Amino acid sequence: MDRPGTVMGLVEHARQSFGQAGLANAAADARLLVGGLLGLSQGQIVAGHDAAVAGEDAQRVIAAIERRLRHEPVHRILGHRTFYDLDLRLSPATLEPRPDTEILVDRILPHLKAIIVSKGGAQVLDLGTGTGAIALSLLKECPEARAMGTDISTEALATAQQNADLNGVSDRFSTVQSRWFDDIDGRFDIIVSNPPYIRADVIKTLAPDVRDFDPLAALDGGPDGLDAYRAIAAGTKTHLAADGLVALEIGFDQKADVSDIFRTHGFSLVEAARDYGGNDRALLFR
Ligand code: GLN
Repeated sequence: MDRPGTVMGLVEHARQSFGQAGLANAAADARLLVGGLLGLSQGQIVAGHDAAVAGEDAQRVIAAIERRLRHEPVHRILGHRTFYDLDLRLSPATLEPRPDTEILVDRILPHLKAIIVSKGGAQVLDLGTGTGAIALSLLKECPEARAMGTDISTEALATAQQNADLNGVSDRFSTVQSRWFDDIDGRFDIIVSNPPYIRADVIKTLAPDVRDFDPLAALDGGPDGLDAYRAIAAGTKTHLAADGLVALEIGFDQKADVSDIFRTHGFSLVEAARDYGGNDRALLFR
């Protein structure tokens, strides 16, 4: 039996508490949370399981376990998470970036690299940038690219700017407060967005980890979930460069509707990708 004042004792306490509370990934969450708080890698947790944890550190872990039991996601408690090759700070105004959104970045990269080869550079616009996850990962992968991140929330833009600084790409990143294209000038080679796309009446049925901790403005897509796509489609023609690409994350059942909206505005679907759960998740238009 591991003592409570050791690394493994705390991991065990967390795992058992989470399991008893019915949280889905009790063991993984326990290791992530304790490791993140104590600055230990997952390997170090296993290797150093007998190491004593000082009273103050143990108290921090216990307090964090209490927060997780109230459904706060592990990475919100830690205040940051990995996305693509980046470490990103989170704030109450930003959606927690999801691994599924990395698939959108994967799909954009070959197109972005082709544009850079032909033009020597590329301008990316990330609408509703949140933490900056999409724009900043594209910048990290493509040193010749520049990106503008927009958001209606100034708090989100401050987080995105901080993340650009922390990840060494701030010289190529700028932010503008704007509702979709309202305050955006100019044309961009790639327009990308992971907009709010949850139907308003569905939000109350979401898991508390999402509903109570991700910002509503990043989730609520209006009565049919498609409000943001209509606004983005309407402004894209005047803001997309010749041969430019529009890349969007979508809800699992929105492929046909979003394709229709963009077709009406003169764009055709060139690529669609599914997420790790097999759901339609990313659409690319020209
Ligand atoms: N993918 C998020 C979720 O499952 C929703 C993000 C969004 O609306 N853009 O909760």
